[in-house]
Formats: sequence, structure tokens, C-alpha cells
Amino acid sequence: MLTRIIPENCIACGLCQIKAPDIFDYDAEGIVIFKNDPEVLSQMIPSDLEEQCMTAYKKCPTRAIIIEKEKATPTN
Ligand code: SF4
Repeated sequence: MLTRIIPENCIACGLCQIKAPDIFDYDAEGIVIFKNDPEVLSQMIPSDLEEQCMTAYKKCPTRAIIIEKEKATPTN
């Protein structure tokens, strides 16, 4: 799934890192970043991490995590 983060909306509550520690991390101010690439604001989440990602998305109190596309378009 294609997922986007909006750091301006993040209140550094910590929930996404608790719910999806393989995906999200924080910068020095506690603001959300992608764990494997702190420079980007959107990323394709591999299918084995989608459940984590969805949980974090639902828990984020300020909608600083956005699911842009739930499933990759089938290629066949
Ligand atoms: S759950 Fe949302 S508000 Fe809380 S740290 Fe993560 S992105 Fe920021």
C-alpha cells in the first residue's frame, strides 16, 4: 500500500511507532518519519507490513498518516 506521512500534522504522540515499529520512527523532535528512509514522505509498504501500517493509520489521532492506495494495482 502507498502510504504518506504529513509531519506538519504530527503531534509526536508515539502511537504509530508503538503500533508499527517496522515502518515508523521519529526525528529528534519526536515527529514521524519512515524508519527505513527518513528523507521521504511517501512510501510503498510491503504486503507483510500492511496490517501494522493500517493499525497505525487508524490510531493516529491527527491523520498525519494517510493511506493513498490500499492495494497495488494488479499487473497481469
Ligand atoms: S500516531 Fe500520528 S500524531 Fe502520533 S506520532 Fe504517529 S504520526 Fe504523529
